[in-house]
Amino acid sequence: MVQWQPLALLYLPATIASLWSARVMLRRRRATPAAGALTVVMLGVAWWSTATAVGSLSDQRNVQLAFSTAIFPGVSAVVAGYFCHSLAMVDRSWRLSRRTRGLLLIEPVLVVALSASNAGHHQFFRDATLVGDPALLMLQPGPLFWLHTMYSYGLLACAILLVLHAWVHAPAAYRRQFMWPLVSAVPPIGGNLLGMFFLPKNQTTDLTPIFFLATAAVCWWALTHQALPDLVPVTHQQVLATLHDGVLEVSRSGRIVDLNPAAELLLRRIVTDLPDNPRGQPLPAAVARLGFEPDRDTQVEITDVLDSGIDLDVRITSLYDQHGTCIGWVLVAREITEHNRRRAVLRDANAKLTHQLATIESLRAELAEQAVRDELTGLHNRRHLLGTLARWPADRQSSLLILDIDHFKRVNDTYGHRAGDQAIRAVAGILAGAIRGDEIAARYGGEEFVVVLPDTDPARAVARAEEIRARCAATPVPTDAGPLTVTISLGVAAGRNGDAEYVLEAADQALYRAKQSGRNRVEESAMTATHRTPA
Ligand code: GH3
Ligand code: MG
Ligand code: MG
Repeated sequence: MVQWQPLALLYLPATIASLWSARVMLRRRRATPAAGALTVVMLGVAWWSTATAVGSLSDQRNVQLAFSTAIFPGVSAVVAGYFCHSLAMVDRSWRLSRRTRGLLLIEPVLVVALSASNAGHHQFFRDATLVGDPALLMLQPGPLFWLHTMYSYGLLACAILLVLHAWVHAPAAYRRQFMWPLVSAVPPIGGNLLGMFFLPKNQTTDLTPIFFLATAAVCWWALTHQALPDLVPVTHQQVLATLHDGVLEVSRSGRIVDLNPAAELLLRRIVTDLPDNPRGQPLPAAVARLGFEPDRDTQVEITDVLDSGIDLDVRITSLYDQHGTCIGWVLVAREITEHNRRRAVLRDANAKLTHQLATIESLRAELAEQAVRDELTGLHNRRHLLGTLARWPADRQSSLLILDIDHFKRVNDTYGHRAGDQAIRAVAGILAGAIRGDEIAARYGGEEFVVVLPDTDPARAVARAEEIRARCAATPVPTDAGPLTVTISLGVAAGRNGDAEYVLEAADQALYRAKQSGRNRVEESAMTATHRTPA
């Protein structure tokens, strides 16, 4: 028969709350296996508290006993679920394997079988009697029950130790996420121990599912509200894993603490005998020689590391503990082999280009020079002379000599054209030796030459003309036909820039006069005389 049992009301909220949380957690199970494990815990709590509540509503001993036996799948689900939740908390990559699931199922299956068949052996419960009003079942636990209890506490203890270990070793910022599963284990264990050892022996109410509801609630809260610390270590690891730069953490004692896949790949290309798991191993000698110094961050470029053909750019940053003591270094290595190769190719191309440019420039200069030079004598040519005269500064007084070899036709006729050329070159040589600074000697045409004397007054110009004339007359020209004496006649004129053409004409007239007056002489333009003494 059904009996009114106020205690049953206690379990109702526990059942509802745990079912609701199980539903919420179920949706999150893809995000983290911890949520899946919590779902199992919640469902176990719901099962456990429902069986306890329903059983207590009957006044029949056998019915109550059947429901007391029926709680065990729920109990086992709670214990195994909490264990899996801890595994998932301490290892982000943990997934429930078939093997773990199989192992975790052994004990619950045995418990269900042994508790269900208790009437045959009485080893699970020694005795079961109804006491009180409303009547509640009082159970005398047998050895199998104690075995089951030991197994459950053992598994819970393992779970707590796992989380405790992770909590101790976690960086300060991530500790909190391990604290909550630990805190959550306190109510059920405390409650259960209290019920078993400290409450009066006739107390038959099993409050454990309600305490476990507290556990699940805390874990659920931690999972939903502590998402950030939960994610951060994973995010850091994934970011490091996707980096193309090699990141290597070295302890103060020179051992590899951790490294990302890029660093491992690089190390394996440089060092052939790297062990399968380099973590904890001493740093390869070549890398160790990079020069780690506490308090000094370093950046080095290493070409052809250990003859590997690999060029690296390595940045070394010191790591400190909270007391400011250097505890190691982080190396960030970027391969720059390709970059360096391209740079070398560019450098070569650049050098070649510079060389070509220099060649082009010298050719251009040579061409430019050839354009203003006379081929036979090497003096400036007529074009350059006229160009220079046109650009002559207006405020400068310049003098101009025009000179012509005397009786040159005769030289040609008597000694040949070749000897004539040699004579022209000899006179040009004397002119080239006679000029200085910005003075110009040019071949004006045939055997006629012009000498421009800037900033020179006519008197100085006449004197210079006389020097040139005398030197020509005194210097025999070596020709194929033997030494030859050639004389020259010179006309001198002076003037300013605007007058260039006019001055040239005046000098030419003076030259004509020199020829008329017997040759081998200097004549000064009459126009120059006027210029010399301006009115
Ligand atoms: P004058 O004393 O009056 O100047 O008599 P000249 O014989 O020198 O007469 P003119 O100046 O008219 O003669 C110029 C000659 O120079 C004509 C030409 O055959 C010769 N000539 C012009 N250019 C060259 C040249 O480049 N090489 C040689 N060998 N002869 C040249
Ligand atoms: Mg002439
Ligand atoms: Mg002549």
